[in-house]
Amino acid sequence: MSTATFSPSEAAQAFLQRQHKILIGAEWQAAQDGRTLDVVNPADGEKIATVPSGGAEDIDRAVSAAKQAFEDSEWSRIKPVDRQKLLWDFADLIEKNAPLLAELEALDNGKSVVIAEHVDIRLAVDFLRYMAGFATKIEGRSVDVSVPFMPDAQFHGYTRREAVGVVGAIVAWNFPLLLACWKLGPALATGCTVVLKPAEDTPLTALKLAELALEAGYPPGVFNVVTGLGHEAGAALSSHPDVDKLTFTGSTEVGKLIGKAAMDSMTRVTLELGGKSPTIVLQDADLQNAAAGAANAIFFNQGQVCCAGSRLYVHKKHFDNVVADISDIANGMTLGAGLDPNAQMGPLVSAKQQQRVCGYIDQGITSGAKVVAGGSAADGPGFFVKPTVMVDVDHNASVVKEEIFGPVLVAMPFDDIDEAVRIANDSQYGLGASIWSNNLSEVHRMIPRIKSGSVWVNCHTALDPALPFGGYKQSGLGREMGSDVIEHYTEVKSVLMSI
Ligand code: NAD
Repeated sequence: MSTATFSPSEAAQAFLQRQHKILIGAEWQAAQDGRTLDVVNPADGEKIATVPSGGAEDIDRAVSAAKQAFEDSEWSRIKPVDRQKLLWDFADLIEKNAPLLAELEALDNGKSVVIAEHVDIRLAVDFLRYMAGFATKIEGRSVDVSVPFMPDAQFHGYTRREAVGVVGAIVAWNFPLLLACWKLGPALATGCTVVLKPAEDTPLTALKLAELALEAGYPPGVFNVVTGLGHEAGAALSSHPDVDKLTFTGSTEVGKLIGKAAMDSMTRVTLELGGKSPTIVLQDADLQNAAAGAANAIFFNQGQVCCAGSRLYVHKKHFDNVVADISDIANGMTLGAGLDPNAQMGPLVSAKQQQRVCGYIDQGITSGAKVVAGGSAADGPGFFVKPTVMVDVDHNASVVKEEIFGPVLVAMPFDDIDEAVRIANDSQYGLGASIWSNNLSEVHRMIPRIKSGSVWVNCHTALDPALPFGGYKQSGLGREMGSDVIEHYTEVKSVLMSI
């Protein structure tokens, strides 16, 4: 555990000390009832900022602003090429502010400042630029039609793709800026307007993003941000009748509430939810590479990754060796604050999350699992949990079945490919999976049998803006990224013209 302390830069300190407001239309405002939320640095538990705790009235005003901007403003008449340029300019500003944004992310979430800058923000910028290109490529089709019951008439048939309207975006705390940009990119490329509700644990970069959007030139009301609690601001947004599309990233439990609220008003909805992704090491894998990859698959971002490789399945011949290597990696990791560039693992996001993760470790031990690395919270201030590896786990134990969302790996051996596929698929979730092998024929035969939205081969959690990301089963509905995401932010209109 590194005890080195790092002070925020002057720019970050100045940002933290601001009297933060929510953005509705062109105006930065306090919450209607004046309530606030404390923002805490998970590396030491100290309060670092205060943000408004918005409620139903704030959401209502934000949705009104978004509706007006969508229906009747310069934004509603903007040319696709100008939408493209604005999104590109927005991405440029995020890139220019990357060091500050990374620092805020590290202070707010606890993640490494280096990873925040070179993974979270890099991916967000690349994705916004990728999406900017779609602004000018939203196309319908010309369809050769003949209406069966009007044999003598001629028609011109075509489809149009039109922006869906006001988007309500609710996001989790594990990649606050990146997840927000996964929603903003397609919304702004297609001409929608947005009300963003960031997670209560990590509201800071969403507020900075809104400021940068105004600086980029987005007209008032196109991008609104309301910070607040999930069951207040989040619930109000998910049930607001003037929201045309909901896009949610978070737990499966809350995702189901959002889905039900959406169905009450037939609001379009996409849900990016939890996971319990398997890492599968086949008999002929490069074992060193696989062990390092499997460790990274679970310990990256303190295991707070929806597609973290939290279940490890290794061919029985190599099980002990691979587990020993991963345990060595876990035991050798330096824990430290997000601002410490040498820390390999930061704190979890909150005391609540630390308790939840430690509770799962205890349940695993009670169910008979053996801890071969870590196994508890780390001493000292902050919400740290040691990177943990467990073996001899019962396949039906909660540590195998449920999403822990922390640095906890459960490892199990398998006999053959059929068993590996069966146990990998034996989950309510289906977000990601990785296969580690040099036998490409075997890998190609396995890929269609794995029930998950992403399959990585000899890598894990590798993402590119051009590849869609999302879940099978209870890991969600719909996809982020790739060209596929455009469908979720547009409606298709059929036009049939008698000529
Ligand atoms: P969470 O579901 O508790 O909260 C997510 C968001 O929903 C927050 O903004 C929260 O304020 C809001 N919320 C909470 N209750 C609400 C309600 N009743 N109505 C409306 N909004 C509400 O999840 P979390 O703990 O913030 O994030 C962790 C979860 O997110 C994990 O399950 C993880 O797998 C998932 N996740 C999924 C993806 C993906 O792409 N599939 C990505 C990141 C995280």
